[in-house]
Amino acid sequence: MPRQLELQSVSVNYGDVVAAKDISFGLGAGEIGCLLGPSGCGKTTLLRAIAGFEPVSAGSISLHGELISSPSHNVPPEQRRVGMVFQDFALFPHLSIEDNVGFGLRTLARRERRRRVEELLELVGLGDFHARFPHELSGGQQQRVALARALAPEPEIILLDEPFSSLDSALRETLAVEVRALLKARNVTAVLVTHDQHEAFAMADSITLLNEGEIVQSDSAYNLYHHPRTRFAAAFIGDGALLTLTAADDKQWLPEIGLSPDSETGHPEPGALVQVLVRPEDVVYDPQSRVQLTVLRRAFRGAEFLYTLALPDGQQVQCLASSQVDVATGEALPVRFNQRHIVLL
Ligand code: ADP
Ligand code: MG
Repeated sequence: MPRQLELQSVSVNYGDVVAAKDISFGLGAGEIGCLLGPSGCGKTTLLRAIAGFEPVSAGSISLHGELISSPSHNVPPEQRRVGMVFQDFALFPHLSIEDNVGFGLRTLARRERRRRVEELLELVGLGDFHARFPHELSGGQQQRVALARALAPEPEIILLDEPFSSLDSALRETLAVEVRALLKARNVTAVLVTHDQHEAFAMADSITLLNEGEIVQSDSAYNLYHHPRTRFAAAFIGDGALLTLTAADDKQWLPEIGLSPDSETGHPEPGALVQVLVRPEDVVYDPQSRVQLTVLRRAFRGAEFLYTLALPDGQQVQCLASSQVDVATGEALPVRFNQRHIVLL
């Protein structure tokens, strides 16, 4: 069975600018994929290529096994059965919510159209809003209308370009979770584009991390966080310190943090420099530990203190400790490094 969406070695150029290079990824029916990365990494370009607004300069895009883009073949956007949702909602301000959602259904008989619109508004939790106008809705509600409108013509796939970025951050994550449930309920295949990892984590089944037009890592959220394969991925996803340490000997090769080799970390040669990614939750307060690090700063977070600690050589790590662990700046905090989560690069 062909996958719902398949990109094979896709490149997109704007003149001399290579905006996306050698991109391959695919989604099965009902899967939600995410293109994640900093501004300018080529996310919108790839969505526009999938929607048919940008020709590809190499590679191919297929939808449901049908070739829709290659350097010599380009199915026009209106024939692709692709739905799009944008950052700024782009609802028609002079049309009611009902007419906005029904916009792509003008070929249906009036009754049928009405029925579909009602069903979709019900689905996005706005059943009572059909007669209102966009300016009478909150940002989150408008975005749900935009989603209902994109779903109305029953596209093969929905493309969402930073759909929550104009909303405040608390609402963003809630809406991402809601939209995910909605898409899953209808088994809709979707590609989400965002620079916000929390949005990506809340919504996607799989994440393709991009940098400068290229794929850095395609993985689950869990693996991107716990097993980043490059410096870029380690720095982009989550908080953490990237320490450079010297392997001492076979038994205990990172004495500064009390790490010893195991099957996960491997056995670097004594004397080798190793890079270790340490997340704040990997540094655990432990009164029994012989590793004592100086507190440089601490920030009260309510339930926790976020401590910034100095290693003997001056490198810094962060530690999340219960706010009952109350150690002043300049004093030593005994900690244990949670080896299971530590990533060697
Ligand atoms: P993102 O959506 O990840 O922020 P874009 O896909 O918009 O990134 O842009 C990727 C790269 O392509 C950027 O370097 C951008 O400047 C360039 N770019 C985007 N659109 C055009 C265009 N129409 N003409 C020329 N360069 C473009
Ligand atoms: Mg963009």
